[in-house]
Amino acid sequence: MASKPQLSRLATLRPRKLHARATEFLQSQDPDLSESQRMVRESIAKICSDFPDEYWARVDSSHQFPTELYDALAHQGWLGICLPQRYGGSELGISEAAVMMQTISESGAGMTGASSVHMNIFGLEPVAKFGSDEQRERWLPPLIAGRERACFGVTEPNTGLDTLKLQSTARRVGDEYVLSGQKIWISTAQQAHKILILVRTTPLDQVQKPTQGLSLFYTDLQVPQVQITEIAKMGRAAVDTNTLFFDHWKVPICDRVGAEDEGFRIILHGLNAERILIGAEALGLGFAAIRRAALYAQEREVFGRPIGKNQGIQHPLADSWMKLEAARLMIYQAARLYDEGYTGGEYANSGKYLAAEAAFEACERAILAHGGMGYAKEYHVERYLREIFIPRIAPVSREMIMNHIAERVLGLPKSY
Ligand SMILES: Cc1cc2nc3c(=O)[nH]c(=O)nc-3n(C[C@H](O)[C@H](O)[C@H](O)COP(=O)(O)OP(=O)(O)OC[C@H]3O[C@@H](n4cnc5c(N)ncnc54)[C@H](O)[C@@H]3O)c2cc1C
Repeated sequence: MASKPQLSRLATLRPRKLHARATEFLQSQDPDLSESQRMVRESIAKICSDFPDEYWARVDSSHQFPTELYDALAHQGWLGICLPQRYGGSELGISEAAVMMQTISESGAGMTGASSVHMNIFGLEPVAKFGSDEQRERWLPPLIAGRERACFGVTEPNTGLDTLKLQSTARRVGDEYVLSGQKIWISTAQQAHKILILVRTTPLDQVQKPTQGLSLFYTDLQVPQVQITEIAKMGRAAVDTNTLFFDHWKVPICDRVGAEDEGFRIILHGLNAERILIGAEALGLGFAAIRRAALYAQEREVFGRPIGKNQGIQHPLADSWMKLEAARLMIYQAARLYDEGYTGGEYANSGKYLAAEAAFEACERAILAHGGMGYAKEYHVERYLREIFIPRIAPVSREMIMNHIAERVLGLPKSY
């Protein structure tokens, strides 16, 4: 238990620079940024500077969706960064979107801020690429304008990462499909008007390859046939994650994206971009953590000098910066390759893996550099650590990335 003198010391620390807004320290001089990336970095940092660490701590403890950031980004047109200009988007690349997501996270918003808009940024790429003109016209403008929110439903409780075995089904009845099944870990389903959902339309034993027979739908979510239940979780409490249970859920045929049974091929198309963006979000949190630690280490005096004078404090933070920068270079390389049409997954997967691991280590070190204060919510780094587990687990785990590299790059036999 904290003694009285310790508590009063905490109070006297309050007005000091340690609580400076994270956004005041966002770097924008990274020498490798292109002109458009720098423009994104500066514009997003400016918007985020209205949302200090205290805002993020508050929405985390009150479990309130960060509508204010979402609206601010929507009003300035950022939700359509990757979507076609024709529908109100900016038609920039993943290289710019990665900078946007890193900057949001790095401002101190972390995975909470990033996840609140993540689905708008890239989630509807399958619709942009594979939807009909009528669907694009119907779905993209309200999403880009921020009037509609969407979520993404792939993961299922019984099959997990073994996506091709997912058990939810859609049965064609006249002009409709009837969906039955369940999903788990569906982020923002409490808020979302729409869901992009993958279900099986042809049973596994009737297709030549397990990748066949899955179909993708983009449809209204808030209907009585879908039961949405929030999962209590470790971090990112402001952005809900849910189980969905649905039965006799009628979905019109005009809400199917692409051809029947071709849904997995469509989803595959966006996987690399998804990993790049999550990796960029992880990076942001890692940089935010070491920045906080460095600020604290300059201010906090023990044994008559700032703790930051000790190499035992300096070196882990310096090591983390180098690892985060290395991961950033791979993520930006993966983004550039993606924008140039490269379809291999090795850089996007490796970048996500390296960024999440480096950021996790950075968040842990930031707590240790703060000593006991690292454990206090007031210093924010404990929130960062809780959130940084997400990019280590989702959308694909560390182990599955290792499997991918072992098989696809090293040519080793499939292990599962
Ligand atoms: C906060 C959060 C938000 C999420 N949001 C969404 C969302 O919006 N939409 C959505 O569809 N999903 C979402 N997910 C789900 C996420 O993508 C999955 O949790 C992730 O893909 C892992 O699947 P699983 O949890 O079923 O793990 P499992 O498949 O049960 O795996 C458990 C462990 O076993 C390991 N493992 C399994 N098979 C192998 C193998 N062959 N070799 C080595 N190791 C293996 C895994 O790597 C993992 O460590 C979210 C998850 C979280 C935590």
